Amino acid sequence: MSGRWAGSTRKSRLPSNWASELRPAAHARNPEHICHICGLPGGDSLDHKKPGDDHNLDNLDWAHDRVPPHCHRYKSSREGLEAKRANPRPGRRRPDEPHPGLL
Ligand SMILES: [Zn+2]
Repeated sequence: MSGRWAGSTRKSRLPSNWASELRPAAHARNPEHICHICGLPGGDSLDHKKPGDDHNLDNLDWAHDRVPPHCHRYKSSREGLEAKRANPRPGRRRPDEPHPGLL
């Protein structure tokens, strides 16, 4: 995997009925795939409105991802940044050591 989903566990965390039930049910509820972010038809990606692993149909709706205006992409990258800010990785910098001449 490469690009923006590199290292993502998103796909493996989707429930087993994602393609067989949830996507078709979301399509039946919103056959024009009206994007829940911008309100225009043609959403190509099923988005979790509230980020996380709540796969209830109430939390799923269509959004533009690979097609303009790429609403889902912007939303996901914003959520990623917010998550990173809330829980930053520990720094790679080693703690300061005293100068060897001072030992
Ligand atoms: Zn949109």
